[in-house]
Amino acid sequence: MRFAFVYRQGCEQKLVDFYDYLQERGHIIDYINPEYVIVLGGDGTILRAAREYRDSLDQIKMIGINFGKLGFYTDFLPDEFKEMISLIESNQYSICRLPLLKYEFTTDQGSEIGYALNEITVVNPLHTQRIDIYINNEMFESFKGTGIVISTPSGSTAYNKSLGGSVVDINLKAFQLTEIASINNRVFATLGSSMVFGEGNVITLKSPSFSGTTFTCDDLHKSATEMKELRATISDRYIQLVTKKNHSFWDRVKKAFLE
Ligand code: NAP
Ligand code: MN
Repeated sequence: MRFAFVYRQGCEQKLVDFYDYLQERGHIIDYINPEYVIVLGGDGTILRAAREYRDSLDQIKMIGINFGKLGFYTDFLPDEFKEMISLIESNQYSICRLPLLKYEFTTDQGSEIGYALNEITVVNPLHTQRIDIYINNEMFESFKGTGIVISTPSGSTAYNKSLGGSVVDINLKAFQLTEIASINNRVFATLGSSMVFGEGNVITLKSPSFSGTTFTCDDLHKSATEMKELRATISDRYIQLVTKKNHSFWDRVKKAFLE
């Protein structure tokens, strides 16, 4: 089998051991065309791995080994490496397919399309910004406040959750819009609740000015000052994550947040 690694700083020593073990067992290390990408780190490292292998997500399966703190995406511990490899060799694992959010960031110069595994956000920490929210090209509400988060089901337990958004079952092909500190008064009023949208819906964010605003996609950020509009929808692309058999999404939520 062909394996590649994505790792975060501090995991180099383990990486050497893992390399040796895979080669002893006759496996191939192939960074260009792997079947399995083993991710050593935390959720942040999974976000990076999904970006690095974005063009071949259909062909690869990701395996997360938790060297992080929370490890929502990482199902295995470093000590379980050999056990994990034998699960792979004997095909005794489950796959969970996590849908990616697709966005289109438009400026006067054109549009850029990208994908998020957790979420995209539009945030202005200094001034309140007005954001007009369109659902399927129809004006829905005019928001004024700090920003908007649009998350995937697997991202619903990240930033979205800190804002009081719902935790969404990863088996739903849906996406969620959550507010960051909206102003609600006689002039500006928003629904307030986070909203969950099914497949096929498109959210568009527009503003008289995005000056001073930041756009984020997972762990990356850039200026949104030149942005004219941002469109988002749940895409047909997935990452395939290797999990232990019988380790359900709700088990993982319980382990991460309640135990
Ligand atoms: P970070 O600031 O180092 O880590 C954010 C924290 O969220 C880490 O504890 C991370 O776990 C955890 N996390 C990431 N994805 C998660 C998920 N899907 N479910 C549950 N927890 C998750 O930043 P980072 O590691 O580069 O990750 C970027 C993410 O940070 C963004 O996608 C956003 O969701 C999140 N964020 C959260 C807030 C907030 O809650 N107020 C604000 C900004 C950004 P690990 O320790 O395993 O990496
Ligand atoms: Mn992190």
